[in-house]
Amino acid sequence: MEKTYHIITIGCQMNKSDSERIANYLESLGYSWTDERERADVVVTTTCGVRQSAEDRIYGLVPRIKRSNPKGRIILTGCLSRREDVRRRLEEYVDIWMPITELPDLAAKLGKKGTGSLSGYLKINPKYGSNFSAFVPIGNGCDNFCTYCVVPYARGRETYRPAEDVIREAEGLIKKGYKEIILIAQNVNSYKDEKGMDFPDLLRAVNDIEGDFWLRFATSHPKDMSNKLIGTIAGCAKLCQHVHLPAQAGDDEVLRRMNRKYTKDHYLKLIEKIRAEFDPKLKNRKSFVEPISITTDIIVGFPGETKEQFQETARLFRAARFDMAYIAQYSPRPGTASAKMEDDVCRKEKKRREEELMKILRKTALVNNKIYQGKIVEVLFDKKNQKGIFGKTRANKTVRCDRDAKAKIGEIARVKILKIQDFGLEGKIIDGKK
Ligand code: SF4
Repeated sequence: MEKTYHIITIGCQMNKSDSERIANYLESLGYSWTDERERADVVVTTTCGVRQSAEDRIYGLVPRIKRSNPKGRIILTGCLSRREDVRRRLEEYVDIWMPITELPDLAAKLGKKGTGSLSGYLKINPKYGSNFSAFVPIGNGCDNFCTYCVVPYARGRETYRPAEDVIREAEGLIKKGYKEIILIAQNVNSYKDEKGMDFPDLLRAVNDIEGDFWLRFATSHPKDMSNKLIGTIAGCAKLCQHVHLPAQAGDDEVLRRMNRKYTKDHYLKLIEKIRAEFDPKLKNRKSFVEPISITTDIIVGFPGETKEQFQETARLFRAARFDMAYIAQYSPRPGTASAKMEDDVCRKEKKRREEELMKILRKTALVNNKIYQGKIVEVLFDKKNQKGIFGKTRANKTVRCDRDAKAKIGEIARVKILKIQDFGLEGKIIDGKK
């Protein structure tokens, strides 16, 4: 009988992309997908250790899977797969611990003949989860060692794919009609391949592939955001006008203790530069072009963050006028440098700081969105539910249209914006497929 597999993915875009590679790898070994994890021969869980809440999910989930499927081989990969304390805690429920870089060796662990000679797991082709939008990893790992972050321990040091591999993968997708290519890595802007190609060169090369598609990338580190990259973002027509630039904090001393290697001033100047480079190009255009949107990640309540230091983050928020922010309350991650610092901001105060930033964010996002009223934008639709059909604009704004609107998931349509909110727009499709 045919062997089956099931994958559960928790966490970031890199984890989603890793799961796509695991799926294709298992299929190459003769396994086929099943929705029933209780009956699967192999159940893979791609874990996230960035927040305590994501980690806690695993402690409930993995024993449940094993109990409901005692014969299945349970594989644990992702951020938690190298952690000794997690291994001890879940020892009796996990059959194979697999840091993602060991994917090429999985065949042998499953007792199959496989592709163990592959140099690097990113050489394994993915089974894409979408037929119109694809994550294309350009590398893996991180060398930055921000003091709160598990990624350098969980994924190891930075390694990058040769540009020709990335370009070949993108070309293949575009030929198949993919509408959106998202280049991903923990820190895209420190990309360098063996032939000396840097990230702006790579972006330009992918942008220059023939075809009608949108290009995105994530995530950038402010210390590596060069003038060359900013110029490239502004100069590449297929590159969407959205930059995700994690600030993490607005106080220089907190940033120093986070080992972020930039100051609040540097961060704000970068944003000014990005807007100055991009937005004048929009003037004198006959049709509406979305301005660049800037989004960020923030941690509130980092060890030792005083009320005054938090106010520096609030000031950064007002000055930066973000379109969106992912605000996390600090939680210590085992094995990181900050886990040795005293977690001295209480939960209630962390929540209060999160809410204060959220209030500022709602205001700046709403002001930024006002320009959209009555304008026509392109939207790539990606989700439909009872409330309507949803998609994203080039600037990554979420747009909702009526459920019965003539639009299909995976298609780009032109939409007239009729209503604006802080974190979303509503509109009416004015014509079908682009
Ligand atoms: S840059 Fe910092 S936060 Fe980002 S993955 Fe690397 S260590 Fe983690």
